[in-house]
Amino acid sequence: MHIKAAVVRESGGPFLIEDLELEAPLEGEVLVRILACGICHTDLIIRDQFYPTPLPVVLGHEGAGIVEAVGLGVKSVKPGDHVLMSFSACGSCPSCVEGAKAYCWHHMQMNFSGMRYSGKAWDVPAPLLKRLPSGGVERINGAFFNQSALATHAIATEDNVVVVDADLDLKMLAPLGCGFQTGAGAILNTLRPEVGSSLVITGAGNVGLAAVMAAAISHCHPIIVIDRVPERLALARELGATHVFDSSDSDPLPAVLALCPGGVRYGLDTTGHPAVLQSIFQMLQARGICGLIGGSKPGAEVSLDMTHLLFGRTVRGILQGDSQPKKFLPQLVKLFRDGLFPIDRLIRHYRLDEIENAIADMKSGATIKPVLLME
Ligand SMILES: [Zn+2]
Ligand SMILES: [Zn+2]
Repeated sequence: MHIKAAVVRESGGPFLIEDLELEAPLEGEVLVRILACGICHTDLIIRDQFYPTPLPVVLGHEGAGIVEAVGLGVKSVKPGDHVLMSFSACGSCPSCVEGAKAYCWHHMQMNFSGMRYSGKAWDVPAPLLKRLPSGGVERINGAFFNQSALATHAIATEDNVVVVDADLDLKMLAPLGCGFQTGAGAILNTLRPEVGSSLVITGAGNVGLAAVMAAAISHCHPIIVIDRVPERLALARELGATHVFDSSDSDPLPAVLALCPGGVRYGLDTTGHPAVLQSIFQMLQARGICGLIGGSKPGAEVSLDMTHLLFGRTVRGILQGDSQPKKFLPQLVKLFRDGLFPIDRLIRHYRLDEIENAIADMKSGATIKPVLLME
């Protein structure tokens, strides 16, 4: 079928809106008419080729839409269902067997290879083609997070879509499938702070602010947020932060230790910057735990004070908020309905052809979470 999609053809961009052909769903796959797709930092680092996902490629991994068709063998999803899309996992490796799907041993292959995996073979080309004026056909890479949802339609799998109630506004919920579940899940699924626990979060982007909301739900205190953009810090306060520090003014470490003598119980770094992780580690109390959810370039290193580490402290990497999307996304939807997880306050909508403006606004901090509308 004929679709429009944002295609990245060279490292660093731009995203070009092109007419493509989308193939029909194979066994285990579903065809989704995309209504909205969030833009996540991971789309941009793939555009910039931090990981070797082949170009040209259609990115986008926070898609939401309505199922139009299903392939053979699909049982739990049917045409007309409203779905959120999330990451993909093989279902049979040691991590998947234990229910830790975000740590699938084939995570890179499943989500970043540019090829599709529908349960049998690893090397099935993505379902995207471009018809050339010469009469030839160009294969476009895709199946990004088994969706490539920066497009009017996408092929996902039965496994990586989550059916939600049809009365919900998919334009607001699209980013649940990556950014928001990553921030909220790090608190609610991984750190699971006890009531009254002290917590510091570095970075008040969409992931950090989702974590702030989850920390408020968990009754953490104090909830400390560190960022360099005053508007983001003000929003963090409105969403539940009890204390905010602007790290462009001064080193927040002494201020945090003055507020929490002995250090904080929990830390969460959403920036992926080695110096920031190092700083948050220094803020931990004995037996304190720091989660790392910010992505960095492969090979980035951080040095930690080993004596400080020896006192029972933990640094833990967290992917996708330890989420099992079919279980966790409905929980987040319920919190959203109840007004406890007001993600709509972070979202600004753009048309698909405004994607470069959306990315510029995300970079400047003018927009926390851009969501593109496909129609
Ligand atoms: Zn697996
Ligand atoms: Zn993402």
